[in-house]
Amino acid sequence: MSARILVVDDQASNVRLLEARLQAEYFDVCTATSGEQAITVARAEQPDLILLDVMMPVMDGYETCARLKDDPSTRHIPVVMVTALDQREDRIRGLEAGADDFLTKPIDDVTMFARVRSLLRLKAVLDELRFRESSSAMSGLSGDVHDDVDSTSRVVIVSTDPRSTARYAAAMPVQARVLEVHEPSAAIAAARDAADLLIVDLTANDYDGLRLCARVRSDAATRQLPILAIVRPDDVQDAVRALDLGVNDIVHRPVDAGELAARARTQLRRKRYADRLRSHLDEGMELAVTDTLTGLHNRRYISSRLRQAMDSASNGGAPVSLLLADIDHFKTINDTHGHEAGDQVLRDFSSRLLTGLRALDLAARFGGEEFVVVMPGAGMAEAEIAAERLRSSVAGSDFKLGDGTKVPVTVSIGVAQARRGEAIDSLLRRADEALYVAKNAGRNQVQAADNAAA
Ligand SMILES: [Mg+2]
Repeated sequence: MSARILVVDDQASNVRLLEARLQAEYFDVCTATSGEQAITVARAEQPDLILLDVMMPVMDGYETCARLKDDPSTRHIPVVMVTALDQREDRIRGLEAGADDFLTKPIDDVTMFARVRSLLRLKAVLDELRFRESSSAMSGLSGDVHDDVDSTSRVVIVSTDPRSTARYAAAMPVQARVLEVHEPSAAIAAARDAADLLIVDLTANDYDGLRLCARVRSDAATRQLPILAIVRPDDVQDAVRALDLGVNDIVHRPVDAGELAARARTQLRRKRYADRLRSHLDEGMELAVTDTLTGLHNRRYISSRLRQAMDSASNGGAPVSLLLADIDHFKTINDTHGHEAGDQVLRDFSSRLLTGLRALDLAARFGGEEFVVVMPGAGMAEAEIAAERLRSSVAGSDFKLGDGTKVPVTVSIGVAQARRGEAIDSLLRRADEALYVAKNAGRNQVQAADNAAA
């Protein structure tokens, strides 16, 4: 995994040392020797990860971290704090400043690269979500929304030792709902049940916690679930294997309640942020292809699908036909009963339209009171039957408004089948001409376009 890493330390020799080790692993490295400079470089270079020395004059690591996390242009970049002292208070202070992880000097390579890979994987996922979100129809997510822990946050704690789970549970944020699991075979089911964080004790001798982590990562239902593993401080190998399996964070035994709480909170917040990005993304995709009033496809979407179907027909595939339907005297309905009534009629019309279609037909609101149905695989005869079915279902019974008023509605429809090699505009024009004929001949009727080759 190639990535750009910003190394920050007030001592140039430390910077050079870390730079050399990272470059040996093919990372791209940029550097800074003060907090001030780190912020400038982070904004300009947008590194994928920051290794930040805590003890620096003027602006120390905590303040630098807090500023980076406060700035919308840098807050998504993971920060690993590098401390000379491994003091509980320092770690908690760092977590409160928004640090994603810690390394203790002297830094051992195995641990550092495992942590770095783990955070880079996480950042890659969030970057992809952020990118897709920014290019989808929804406008940006405000970074100011608070992704905090609340009563919908669910934590599952797995350990065969009930005293341990009780101790970890007591450390969780008070708002979160916590489930203690002592039977590892029940852990997967618990994780699948809408969990937001899984805490796994890897120190037990009587079950294989790493195997559980691997299963959670490979199961589609739990792939995104953050995992926090508890390991023995002397077991560097387990910690590295856990991180490489996709465990998100590690806490050493004996577990400090304050540190566990702070790390759990970080994971829960991150999960919430990623969930929010994903759901906005789904809405964005949906909005890009859907007409919001009727729930039918929109013009842009139907045009691209029509192009595909016409290309396939031109290349010797199945034929494709098109209905262009326009509600008769719609302006009068709006003028007489109001726009809300008009919207109601459009929605009711859409559901009658859908009822009469085949599964592979595509219906769209083309604009105003005009609708298009693309019928892949259908020739003229079939399309005319579908059009007549729609016409009679609309005229067959009155539309009912919200206040119970009954409104008679009719529709005029033009039908055309695509010619070989025909352009979309030409097909739509011929359907429109047929529709015009239907309107002029008294409305509430279907007219077929002349389908002889031009
Ligand atoms: Mg220093």
